[in-house]
Amino acid sequence: MKRGRVIKSTGSWYEVKTTEGEQIQCRVRGKFRHKGIRSTNPVAVGDWVAVKGDEGAYSIVDIEERKNYIVRRSVNLSKTSHIIASNLDQAVLIVTMKEPVTFPTFIDRFCVAAEAFHIPVAIVFNKIDLLTDDDIDLMESFASVYEELEYPVIFTSAEAEIGSDDLKDLLRDKVSLLSGHSGVGKSTLINKIDRNLTLRTGEISSSHQTGQHTTTFAEMFELEFGGYVVDTPGIRGFGIVDIEREELAGYFPEMRKHLPDCKFYNCLHISEPGCAVKKAIERGEIAETRYNSYLNMYHENEEQYR
Ligand code: GDP
Ligand code: ZN
Repeated sequence: MKRGRVIKSTGSWYEVKTTEGEQIQCRVRGKFRHKGIRSTNPVAVGDWVAVKGDEGAYSIVDIEERKNYIVRRSVNLSKTSHIIASNLDQAVLIVTMKEPVTFPTFIDRFCVAAEAFHIPVAIVFNKIDLLTDDDIDLMESFASVYEELEYPVIFTSAEAEIGSDDLKDLLRDKVSLLSGHSGVGKSTLINKIDRNLTLRTGEISSSHQTGQHTTTFAEMFELEFGGYVVDTPGIRGFGIVDIEREELAGYFPEMRKHLPDCKFYNCLHISEPGCAVKKAIERGEIAETRYNSYLNMYHENEEQYR
């Protein structure tokens, strides 16, 4: 019996990197059941598995419990999900102030989804070579919101080769999911810090396949300085995450801590009297941009349930 991590999946076979450092091709034997999830794929990239057999006939016979995973629901509402990747150490969001613009609401949606999936977030501001002094002031005020939430934040320019060491330090020895709008520089950044690596993100996300249930599989790439990046073609964010309106504020860490102090236990933090969240905003303890993102998500959610 061998133990290893699934680093690539095609749907019919899996590539496993064993703890001894070999890379082997495996099939799946038997059925695996996971608590509370009906998924279309039994084994996902990132899974730690037990493998039996010999050269040419390896089978995955067991999967260790996942510390976290990200899923995409099937579009046909069949309640089955496709597990995209598991056991992630962090979700790294690459953002840019311009070319393209990344709006705070997009960042906050990402943070909320990552909270829901139990994955720590880090934020990389790329293309800082394009910024004027005013842009830099604005970027720093955005960044401080996330730094206060204790998310690691770094600043890079793939073009001017700024921040490469910070990016290496961020990714070293971790399994990282990379996300961000198309064109923010994900592929360029990764290629700068590891010349052997070329990501597929760029080419695929530009073909607008996001809404479709395409059978695309994630892949893990080993970084030469240690760690892995998970490349998920066609997935720029996490997609839709089901969060009930009543639970939404709980996924904003700075709101979460005030929730017990709202006058009404079912406060939605909109216009209720005695709302501790609104008071915290007035005191400047919760950023306006974050509350705006909350409102955006709240109202969108309201539409979904109507
Ligand atoms: P991806 O879609 O996120 O993978 O983005 P790409 O890596 O394909 O980059 C999109 C474009 O932005 C390319 O033309 C890159 O050369 C350019 N680019 C990437 N990083 C930087 C940067 O730091 N500064 C500038 N000025 N351009 C960049
Ligand atoms: Zn409240």
